[in-house]
Amino acid sequence: MLKNSKLFSDAKKVIPSGVNSPVRYFEPYPFFTKKANGAYIWDEENNRYIDFCNGYGALLFGHTRKEIIDSVSKQLSRGTLYCTPTEGETELSKLITQNFPSIDKVRIMNTGGEATMTAIRLARGFTKKKKIIKFEGCYHGAHDAVLVKAGSGSAHNGISVSDGGLDEVSKNTLVVQYNNIEDFQNTIKKHKDIAGVIVEPILANMGLILPEKNFLLDLRKITQENNIPLIFDEVVTGFRVSPGGAQEYFGIKPDLTTMAKALSNGFTISAVGGKKEIMNLLSPEGKVYQAGTFSGNPVSVTAAIASIKLINKLKNKLYSKLEKFNLLFSTALDDIATDMNIPHQINFTASMFQIFFTDKPVTNYETSKMADAKKFMKLFRTLLQKGIFIPPSQFEVVFMSDAHTQNDLNKTLDAFYDGLKLVKR
Ligand SMILES: *Cc1c(COP(=O)(O)O)cnc(C)c1O
Repeated sequence: MLKNSKLFSDAKKVIPSGVNSPVRYFEPYPFFTKKANGAYIWDEENNRYIDFCNGYGALLFGHTRKEIIDSVSKQLSRGTLYCTPTEGETELSKLITQNFPSIDKVRIMNTGGEATMTAIRLARGFTKKKKIIKFEGCYHGAHDAVLVKAGSGSAHNGISVSDGGLDEVSKNTLVVQYNNIEDFQNTIKKHKDIAGVIVEPILANMGLILPEKNFLLDLRKITQENNIPLIFDEVVTGFRVSPGGAQEYFGIKPDLTTMAKALSNGFTISAVGGKKEIMNLLSPEGKVYQAGTFSGNPVSVTAAIASIKLINKLKNKLYSKLEKFNLLFSTALDDIATDMNIPHQINFTASMFQIFFTDKPVTNYETSKMADAKKFMKLFRTLLQKGIFIPPSQFEVVFMSDAHTQNDLNKTLDAFYDGLKLVKR
């Protein structure tokens, strides 16, 4: 038996479905990773893949970037967990507030889900109201308040509200169509007790869906007029689309921001930040409770500081290079699919793209769901055979990293060509 197959059957005996996060599974079994370096990831059978999953966007610099690994290695010998304040946490928080002018104060935690959970609790504590508005297909982590018509693995596995989640909770989550400002306006008019609005400023969990012109500006305007805190969930976009996230990219200031993935280039860390009137409500001074044993641990904090410093040092070249690579790649891919007469859409921005097999523009949950996900999985499998690893779901995004070379991208385009030939059949 092949090694990956054996490893998977062993894993299934002790791990539910054999994986520790649902999207990692794909048919017939996922590959098991032995190591990663730069743009590449190797499985236990010694196959090498060019990695376009990149920790679902976390690895802006690719794997094992020297500056970050060096800093973390030094920290490891000084201890891994203190559970006391450290100077590093202040330094990191200063860096975040400098890069994100909408943020006066920031609290460091561990996962994206924890950050959105806290942001929502803060919005409720601040407004003393109950309901939150989220948008169809946006994914904000695996907790009850936001696991309603969510994207990512939840959409991939066809779960609208999770078993075990309470109606009492999900009824307080109002779901509005992405890119539909009228739907949003009507919802605000109908409900008086809205505590907050949470949105992915670029929807990166339903494939890639871009905000239409003025959608975010209108959201900002309407929430401001109605005194409703606006939460930008920048868990994907923070540091990935610009050093100041999507809010810098679009020039919009939310009241609260969550960030995680590209904050540390591959370590466990997240953050919630925002206006001090809201952030000061956190305990112990305030009455909104939030806590975490591993919060602000020196290993992740060191990685985040090194990562932000590197981003700020390289920003003038880094983002324009990735954008150029992506523009060239996505345009070439579009040309190939058009020449083959395959109905398709390619959505791309900054260092992210996704292809959908449909003739309708993909602008929301519905139109993303209309795309032929079976064809996408066919493409995924061909790419994998050719040594290209993209996330194994239509409802995820292909992420480029600074480690990718022009040569990697040429090889990848060749593999896409072969994949599209099979899709066409
Ligand atoms: C990944 C993701 C989350 C959840 O982060 P976890 O670290 O997996 O809990 C939240 N919001 C968005 C936009 C994400 O992409």
